[in-house]
Amino acid sequence: LTDLAELLPLDRAMGQVVKETHQAAPIVGGRARSGNARPILNPADLRRTVGQVVEAGAPELDEALARASRAHEDWSRTPAETRALCLDRAADLMEAELPRLMGLAIAEAGKTVPDALAEVREAVDFCRYYAARARADFAQPLRLPGPTGERNELRFAGRGVFACISPWNFPLAIFSGQVTAALVSGNCVIAKPAEQTPLIAAAAVRILHQAGIPADVLHLLPGDGEKVGAPLVADPRVAGVAFTGSTEVARGINRALAAKDGPIVPLIAETGGQNAMIVDSSALPEQVVRDVLISGLQSAGQRCSALRVLFVQQDIAPKLEKMLAGAMEELKVGDPALLETDIGPVIDEGAKQMLEAHAQRMGRESRLLYEMKLGQDLPPGHYFAPRAYVLDSLSRLTREVFGPVLHIVHWRADQLDEVIDAINATGYGLTLGVHSRIDSTQRRVWERVRAGNTYVNRNMIGAVVGVQPFGGEGLSGTGPKAGGPHYLHRFAVERTLTIDTTAAGG
Ligand code: NAD
Repeated sequence: LTDLAELLPLDRAMGQVVKETHQAAPIVGGRARSGNARPILNPADLRRTVGQVVEAGAPELDEALARASRAHEDWSRTPAETRALCLDRAADLMEAELPRLMGLAIAEAGKTVPDALAEVREAVDFCRYYAARARADFAQPLRLPGPTGERNELRFAGRGVFACISPWNFPLAIFSGQVTAALVSGNCVIAKPAEQTPLIAAAAVRILHQAGIPADVLHLLPGDGEKVGAPLVADPRVAGVAFTGSTEVARGINRALAAKDGPIVPLIAETGGQNAMIVDSSALPEQVVRDVLISGLQSAGQRCSALRVLFVQQDIAPKLEKMLAGAMEELKVGDPALLETDIGPVIDEGAKQMLEAHAQRMGRESRLLYEMKLGQDLPPGHYFAPRAYVLDSLSRLTREVFGPVLHIVHWRADQLDEVIDAINATGYGLTLGVHSRIDSTQRRVWERVRAGNTYVNRNMIGAVVGVQPFGGEGLSGTGPKAGGPHYLHRFAVERTLTIDTTAAGG
């Protein structure tokens, strides 16, 4: 999976960053605040401290909200072109800091080297794409056709102060995507990164300030979801919330917003998935195996888009499962900083315990197809041996299993509609894979399955900014799609102007 020619020149600089220690603190009004620091440990080697984080308290939260509220009018009247230029500059700065940002993604989030490269590139792409969309949609009011004697215009304006709450698994890309979308649409932003990954978020905020985003327009509040995230979204000064993370937390935020007095606050939520791939007997087995490994095990399965349930047509199941087990045997679990590693650790002890509990349950309720062996020489880290199970029904999976675990269910040729119904019955609707060389099957599945992103005869790792806008429906999120042409509009209000041009002076 690794393109060594591309990665080798970055290896030394990146490796250095992995070894250094880094700092994150609340950044309010452009100034990093001091306080008691908590260590961040490298998930791949718990003997290594990646850095220290000072978490935000109530005074930083209040000051950030006060400053952002005051700054909003000026920022929303700043021309869209000026705001877009800040994002373009941020993209250039991120590119210039590529090895440093990659090193942080590896050390703090346990990303493998290729994943870390993709992470930084996606963040860069978000900055450039949202800058371009803002120029296209926000720079000039839209002239609307109207009756003679009247002029009608429509313009977009920022909503006010946006809370951007992000997950640890794309600690730079999703963090920057949410924050830059809100900023370029004319909002001030209070960013709350995930507990596990404040260091790379602090680096992104520093870059955005350096790129020209005013100090009072963007603030960073590292800290716990309950202690910092919950009071942030509940505050009456917050006019919008962009959240990416688990479905459960999104539901809690939705309830908190509904209970709040004052204006009705929109929630843009991008949440979990129970993503399936349907394989029929016309599929090419080698291609299926390659795409299953990439979709289900890359990033240690810790992607919202990752493959969780593989529906294999019964007549090819024995052959495909044998090939899959053989291919898993070839993969290497290990230190993500090493170029030869395919699969790194899971993020923390909680994630590992959840996966171990799931493995125990699967041991009782399914057949273990294959469990990878972990090397004896692994450092002490949150490693979990990837595995594949064969289940009698998808209904055995009641929640998202966020890790390197594949679940296989068999189906008969006359059961395609039952498979589709079972996928829809999960209530999630994020990604879907299809491996079939029959056109009518590809179409039937695409038309009937509720999924935000469908991939045919390829892997399910997509989300190319501007090309494959990403996002789900149902339990997987509210839309609109990140990296798509409609995303910025949810961050803005629309205002119309109607002038009677027949009136004196009109
Ligand atoms: P999480 O829901 O545990 O945390 C996400 C963020 O919410 C963190 O910053 C956390 O501190 C904060 N938070 C927690 N409780 C809160 C509260 N009460 N109020 C406000 N904020 C609160 O998710 P995670 O473990 O960081 O990320 C993994 C999850 O994210 C998975 O479910 C994955 O599928 C999902 N995800 C979805 C997408 C997508 O685009 N659909 C992308 C990446 C990750």
